[in-house]
Amino acid sequence: MSEMFIENEAAMAALGERLANFCPPQCVIYLVGELGAGKTTLVRAFLQAAGHHGSVKSPTYTLVEPYEIAGRQYYHLDLYRLSDPEELEFLGLRDMLEGQSVMLVEWPQKGQGVLPVADLVLTIDYAGTGRQINLEAGSESGQKMLDSLA
Ligand code: ADP
Ligand code: MG
Repeated sequence: MSEMFIENEAAMAALGERLANFCPPQCVIYLVGELGAGKTTLVRAFLQAAGHHGSVKSPTYTLVEPYEIAGRQYYHLDLYRLSDPEELEFLGLRDMLEGQSVMLVEWPQKGQGVLPVADLVLTIDYAGTGRQINLEAGSESGQKMLDSLA
């Protein structure tokens, strides 16, 4: 487990970039935090650092946005509007779990019991104009990512 203070939006983006650099081809990251915490900001920087050139829209209504970057699959999920974890099946969860893919999940609490276990859980809290982030590994590969970040 580790704690990090993120001063502003640029620092949040920098963290997203660093996470992308240390993320193995198969990886599940949960992003927990209130609306406006900076979850999508982090994911946008992550995907761009991974090599995505276009825009990164928040999957507020689509719930999932798939990306193929350099032959790898990435899925950005925002489950805020998911009413039941079982609905994940209709969003194509099975395909997401097939082969190697990176899943970045906002509001993972809404998919509890159906989502794959997280390698890394980031919990973002407001701290004045900045953010306090708690990072917790859920697997050995998540722990490696944490070690690399430190
Ligand atoms: P979420 O996906 O968690 O709802 P967003 O990333 O969409 O949040 O929005 C975060 C908003 O907060 C952006 O408008 C961003 O400019 C602002 N912001 C202010 N301070 C920070 C910070 N320290 N980290 C991330 N975003 C910040
Ligand atoms: Mg968001």
